[in-house]
Amino acid sequence: MILDGKAVAQKVLDEVRAGATDLRAATGVTPTLAVVLVGDNPASKSYVNSKKRMAASLGMESPDFVYPDGLGQAELLALVERLNADPAIHGILVQLPLPRGLDEDAVIARISPLKDVDGLTPVNLGRLLAGADGMIPCTPAGCMEILDYYGAKLEGAEAVVVGRSRLVGKPLAQLLLARHATVTTCHTRTRDLAFHTRRADILCVAAGRAEVITGDMVKPGAWVIDVGFNRLPTGRNVGDVDFASVSEHAYAITPVPGGVGPMTIAMLMKNTLLAARRQLGR
Ligand code: NAP
Repeated sequence: MILDGKAVAQKVLDEVRAGATDLRAATGVTPTLAVVLVGDNPASKSYVNSKKRMAASLGMESPDFVYPDGLGQAELLALVERLNADPAIHGILVQLPLPRGLDEDAVIARISPLKDVDGLTPVNLGRLLAGADGMIPCTPAGCMEILDYYGAKLEGAEAVVVGRSRLVGKPLAQLLLARHATVTTCHTRTRDLAFHTRRADILCVAAGRAEVITGDMVKPGAWVIDVGFNRLPTGRNVGDVDFASVSEHAYAITPVPGGVGPMTIAMLMKNTLLAARRQLGR
């Protein structure tokens, strides 16, 4: 079974559009996502533009705050503080990576947890660990949404997450654990990666290495979520999973592109609506 991230994302986006319309009708307030971009990284510019376009298509506002490379740390922190204090702003997205010289961790930590739609502040990551309500990072949240949409049974399942980044692997492992999966997290020091991946009923791969997981590493009947997105020298985009060989073993698999990718932006929009609702006490 191909797990169609575009279809799942569309369902999420339709719900967000309806939710934004209802919120505006009830309160007169439009959910608003402030987008902060520093420097001229072309990929970051393109991500920011697609987020803005998506927000507009859902009836949300997304004012941008664009600065050239050279903006100082203190100025950036002051901007974040200003956005934190502005009641018309419900979500704050600081596009990463920031140019060299800026302290990303300090900037993220300064975002109000209520407006932290990326779910990356220490407070929200801590809430995830504590099992408390907070903001969930968008990509792992998107992986869970796909698994739920297609009815994967998580309780009691062996789940293996390849990758332990703050952005994807660690929060995804926590989310699976919260749903009563038995979770193993693998990384570059894992001694025998295939030993672990072959045990997985649910295999989630966020290694950032093109096609590192091959068919012989996957248990027959497994669900495989491929978070990776890698551009090969040939210009072809592939995941961290070798789709051709793994799809012969897996019961269900996300393609690249068209799997987890479309979910990330959809979950960002969902988090923005959630942030607006919470700030409006709804
Ligand atoms: P990252 O920060 O580079 O982390 C990669 C993780 O994978 C690290 O924990 C690393 O282990 C581990 N790893 C690398 N090679 C490995 C190997 N051969 N065996 C086992 N573990 C290995 O990457 P990330 O930000 O989590 O992103 C992961 C992938 O997802 C990338 O391809 C990225 O492009 C993609 N991504 C996609 C989306 C989307 O919207 N679709 C969003 C975010 C990320 P160590 O900790 O030991 O170094």
